[in-house]
Amino acid sequence: MNSPDNHPFHWHYAELDDKNFQIHGQSLLLLLILFSILLLFTLICLYTRWACRYRQSTAAAAQQQQQQGLQMVRPVGLDRATIESLPVYLHRSSASEAQCSICLSSFQEEEKVKVLPECNHAFHPECVDMWLKTHSSCPLCRASLGGPAEAACVAA
Ligand SMILES: [Zn+2]
Ligand SMILES: [Zn+2]
Repeated sequence: MNSPDNHPFHWHYAELDDKNFQIHGQSLLLLLILFSILLLFTLICLYTRWACRYRQSTAAAAQQQQQQGLQMVRPVGLDRATIESLPVYLHRSSASEAQCSICLSSFQEEEKVKVLPECNHAFHPECVDMWLKTHSSCPLCRASLGGPAEAACVAA
């Protein structure tokens, strides 16, 4: 007598399970869609961030190139390392140069003077540094100090 009772229950259970499965299937599908939307969104976010950074880096590179181009177009001067490598002495009253021919002021005793190695002309370091940024020769006698242009000529 138990089996006829059990049978409908089993059948009922099976139907419930099937329904449950259907619900699970639908929610799984929904979850899958949601997940893919989320994934897509994350990908878009990542892409825009990457694109932004890429654009920034290319813009920076372009700017750098432009600056380098400007430096090349600029009148040929000495590079900073060369300017800084020029000897600086403390002025003695016995020295031949008595005044800086850039600012036309006399050197004081023990004042720092930068002497150009090619012609031994002396100037204030700050005066001659400014000049050498745009020129590669002595401001007084135009003696060449070996700028980048000449270095390129030697290399070529
Ligand atoms: Zn000076
Ligand atoms: Zn000179």
